[in-house]
Order: sequence, then C-alpha cells, then structure tokens
Amino acid sequence: MKAMVLTGKAQAEYREVPTPECPVDGLLVKIEAVGLCGSDVRTFTYGHSKVKYPAIIGHETAGTIVEAGPENKGGWKVGDNVIINPAIICGTCYYCTHNLSALCENMHVYGNDIPGGYAQYMAVPGVGVEHGQILRIPEGIAFDEIIIVELLASVIASQENLRISLGETVVIIGTGPIGCLHAQIAKLRGATKIIMADLNRERLDMVHQFGGTHFVDSSKEDLVKIVREVTGGRGADAVIVAAPSTQPHQPGLEMLRKEGRLCVFGGLNKENPWSNLDANLIHYNRLEIRGAYSYSFANFQQGLELVTAGKIDKDIVTHRLPLKDMVEGVHLVQQGKAIKVVLKPWEE
Ligand SMILES: [Zn+2]
Ligand SMILES: [Zn+2]
Repeated sequence: MKAMVLTGKAQAEYREVPTPECPVDGLLVKIEAVGLCGSDVRTFTYGHSKVKYPAIIGHETAGTIVEAGPENKGGWKVGDNVIINPAIICGTCYYCTHNLSALCENMHVYGNDIPGGYAQYMAVPGVGVEHGQILRIPEGIAFDEIIIVELLASVIASQENLRISLGETVVIIGTGPIGCLHAQIAKLRGATKIIMADLNRERLDMVHQFGGTHFVDSSKEDLVKIVREVTGGRGADAVIVAAPSTQPHQPGLEMLRKEGRLCVFGGLNKENPWSNLDANLIHYNRLEIRGAYSYSFANFQQGLELVTAGKIDKDIVTHRLPLKDMVEGVHLVQQGKAIKVVLKPWEE
C-alpha cells in the first residue's frame, strides 16, 4: 500500500510500505479520509516524544472495513463504514476506573505509538475495538466530513470542563478548525457573545459563519480592550486559547472577569512550552486555568450525534487533498489559508 512516512523532522516520503495484517481480534480498515490535525502539523514540524521514525501518523480516520478478525468483539463485518476513535485505553488504571478514561495512564493513540491513518490501510488492534471505539458512520455522511467528530470530541470535553453556559461571553483565540468548532459548541451551550480572534486576517474573514458574534484581528486590535468594552468593563467568562502559542496566555488572563476560566487548549511546541503569567492576577481575581486534552468515549459519541443531526457546520473542511500532498496541506494550515484539511489516501 501507499503511505506517507515521516522520516525525520519536517521530512516525509510518500512511498510503498507493506499493508498491515488484520489482527485476529481486530480489523483492517481501508482509509477513505484522514484529517490533517494541528497536532500532526506540530509532529511533522518539530517531532513528537512518542513518534519514532519512520512513522505513519494520523489519528482522525474514517473508512471501510475490508477484513474483520473473526474474534473482533464488536461484531464488525467487511463493508461496514466506520469512524475510529483513536484513544485506546487500558480500562484498568486509576483514571480508567475513576470515570476519567480520557487521562488513561496507558493510552495508545494511532499515529503516536501505533501506525496511524496516513496510509491506504490501517490495522485496528483488538484493544482498539473492545471498548467500543469503532462507530458506524450513519448513511448520507461523507467520510471527509465525519472525521471532524474527533476534533469535536475534544472541544466538547473541554467546554464541559470549562462549564460554558447560558448567556456567557466566551473568547476564542485562534480560528483554525478547533476554534471554529469551539464557537459552534459555545453557541450550542448557550453562550451569547462569542468573540473570535486571530492574528491572521485572511483566516478570520473565513470564519464568520461558525457562530462567532465578534471578530478581532489581534495583530492590529487590542483584544483585551475590546473584550472589556463588549462586556461592560467586566471581562469574559471564559477564554479558550485554541492556538499552539503561549503568547495569548497572559492577555487571556487579563481579559477574564473575576473567577473567569482560561482554557489552554492548544498544545505547544515541545521545545518551548513555557508561559509567563502574572500569578497575582490569578490570585486576586480567583482565576481558573484548565488544560484540555483528549475526551471520553461519551464525548466522541456526542460529536457523532451532533454531526449526524446537522448541528455542526461541516464547511470547516475547506481543503481535500490527496495524501501524497500532505506537506502542501501543512503549508496551507501554517499560512492560515485553510481551516480544515482532509487527506484522501485513494486519490491521486
Ligand atoms: Zn486531532
Ligand atoms: Zn487506563
């Protein structure tokens, strides 16, 4: 089969590799669409602690089962169209047994420590089936749209933790696919002012349809000041940093109301993850800072329900490229020309 193989930092080769075998208790899936995730852009550019070269990354996958191991626990059959929840949990660690499986201590993720979906086929191991990680794609939903469920799951999880609620003002910094989904979910949860900010004007102009009420070019405008104005001087209830940068963290604290919540959603370049924060602001204003990583199986299913019910604007997928053009996709994302890029392993 053909695969996009990462061979070093910012190096990748589209080449022939052996097709994986179908595990006796797992599945072999023909990958029809795989999302180019912001974390894939980061992994490609800077490397990743769990990714060892040569590596096939990609965790936002959907496709068709072409081989079903006779002992697979889901009763899956050849021909089933599925979306794959990439979080493979152990089910037995402290977190798994305390309703926090998103934080499983033994988590495996496709594209990190097991081969991912930047390939024409991907093997799903037995442990990737047995906890219900494989979900059927409802009729009428395209492969290259369903993959947004994975992003949506992490957005849903983080807004649950942030307790976004009716009538709130939410600031979303970064208007990539995650920022756009945050706006949509904030709106669904009843936020009434949704301020979307980006340093990239071109991209900001592309995102007006996703639920935002205010749009701020933070390369030119003072976001803290605007948020204060919009909220009558009080500050936002929550700020979500959906960008792989520490730069918005301190201004994010400054634009919160007392007892406001800051979400560090975007992961950071592992070589420079340090953030400089005014701890007195946190102290006196009783601010809350929350990380966001991963999601529960329930969040994944909620994402699937929302997409199926037409509650999510799937136009966040702006580019569909053949897998061989992955690097071009990375550039489109880095330049802010694309919102979501989906790669198609079977298109030339
Ligand atoms: Zn992702
Ligand atoms: Zn676990």
